[in-house]
Amino acid sequence: MKRKTSRFSLEGVILVGLLATFLVVMMAGWFQASTSRITTPPEPDELTAVSPITMDIAQQFDCSCGTCSDNAAECQCSTAKATRNFIEKQVRQGKSEQEIIHDVQSLFGYDRG
Ligand SMILES: [Zn+2]
Repeated sequence: MKRKTSRFSLEGVILVGLLATFLVVMMAGWFQASTSRITTPPEPDELTAVSPITMDIAQQFDCSCGTCSDNAAECQCSTAKATRNFIEKQVRQGKSEQEIIHDVQSLFGYDRG
């Protein structure tokens, strides 16, 4: 009898605990939803400024600065940035990937084969 009573109260505690957790989660979710309306401006990042197509093409080229071993998509030097900017301009002009690759090869060279 005593054991049964204690088990019942334990279940009651668990039930209340679950309800409290549920309420906290709900309130946290509501709070998050109400605060997420404040949008923070994205970090100025050279790599996110260009399109995925540009990164795709840039990855096929070694950086032509001559001092780094990174590819043109990953290198942070001004030559790589110029290469990416050049590719990005071609992409926005609606040129095909093959045309852009050809232009980059003739202007910057250093394709990765
Ligand atoms: Zn470089």
